[in-house]
Amino acid sequence: MNEILDTPLMHPRDQITMIISRIYKRGMTTTSGGNISVIDENGDIWVTPSAVDKGSLRPSDIICVKADGNIIGRHKPSSEFPFHKAIYQIRPDIRAIIHAHPPALVSFSIVHEIPNTNIISQAKYICGPIGYATYELPGSELLGERIAGEFSKGFKAIIMENHGTVLGGYDLLDAFQRFETLEFCARTILYGKTIGIPQYLADAQIDDFEAHMPGLLPEMDEVHYPSDEREKRAEICKIVHRACDQGLMISTYGTVSMRWRMDDFLITPTSMPRWDLQIGDIVQIKDNKREPGKMPSRATWLHQEIYRRNPGINSIILTQSPYLMAFSVTHSLLDVRTIPESWIFLQDIPALSFGIHKRESMQIPELLAQGNPAIIIQNDAILVTGDKLLQTFDRLEVAEFSAKSLVMAKPIGALIPINSEQVEELRSVFLKK
Ligand SMILES: [Zn+2]
Repeated sequence: MNEILDTPLMHPRDQITMIISRIYKRGMTTTSGGNISVIDENGDIWVTPSAVDKGSLRPSDIICVKADGNIIGRHKPSSEFPFHKAIYQIRPDIRAIIHAHPPALVSFSIVHEIPNTNIISQAKYICGPIGYATYELPGSELLGERIAGEFSKGFKAIIMENHGTVLGGYDLLDAFQRFETLEFCARTILYGKTIGIPQYLADAQIDDFEAHMPGLLPEMDEVHYPSDEREKRAEICKIVHRACDQGLMISTYGTVSMRWRMDDFLITPTSMPRWDLQIGDIVQIKDNKREPGKMPSRATWLHQEIYRRNPGINSIILTQSPYLMAFSVTHSLLDVRTIPESWIFLQDIPALSFGIHKRESMQIPELLAQGNPAIIIQNDAILVTGDKLLQTFDRLEVAEFSAKSLVMAKPIGALIPINSEQVEELRSVFLKK
């Protein structure tokens, strides 16, 4: 069962414990590395302790460094506390800080580079411009000065030379989303460079994407929640949480929907952190109207067109996962003629250029109507469809595994695909009804 992060109401020690375990679970920190802090209105700073196992941290392990310097807690505060304090002093808009050594961002840090966030649609806005702090001794005042110096330029995220990364936010959720998205960009670029040449979006393309708000459906007057509707809400939440746990979705991107009755469906909301999605957040779409007071995903129109034109499709997942995105950002062909399972589940996966937010584009519903269950959208996402939601999720997993095998195979050789005859044999045995 996923715990829900509620930054306005949860105690900072509970927030910090939850986020550190999320970061640890997703492989973005080691047991000893990384630290998190949150500052209170009165200037007290809650921070992770020094040298305590990040895999089993409890709220009672979190330290409070009072504004007057007194330390309350049963451990010593993190050895990197000086730079947390230095950032809070220089940036009153920053109320939470995450520092860690996640592998992909460390790769950038050790070659003295900054990842270009124009690699995927939403990252430039989530991460903002990225700063760079030169090397200093860990835990030193000088390191604090270097880092605070970068934050004083207005950055909310920096790469630390030969060390790691520091990210700030107006609350811990904001900082976590920036952290997760930046590490995701780094991974996508690294995997992309293994198989090809990453193509970056122009600022104008991203601005256009962000500015483009497809017309909102009107609100329905009355809303009912029959049991079969509630069942689907729970199913969607479960799949979204599972996708986050499995590294198939990040908090800042991803839409899941399920057909309900006829062309009516349930869909995830816009700009809601995916890790923390709850059944009450899911939006009902009925008779071309939306549930009152809720903002459905910006891709609602696309889901609607897909359901209308494809009676066999009953669930849709639109997401970013790192190995599939390596193909999406390099505009490389994802050839799933790798193993029988991959081809049977996915058949050939077409790729479309960036810009599905343009409402007039009916390309996707039409491609799906031709029988392609999955589509890659360049620098944006992978779209997977199916009957039952679990089947669609399984397809997504198979797609990500196939992409991963292709990326991992690159250093040992080129794919020798299953040949056309073998594909036709698979088609006649497994796909003909
Ligand atoms: Zn560190």
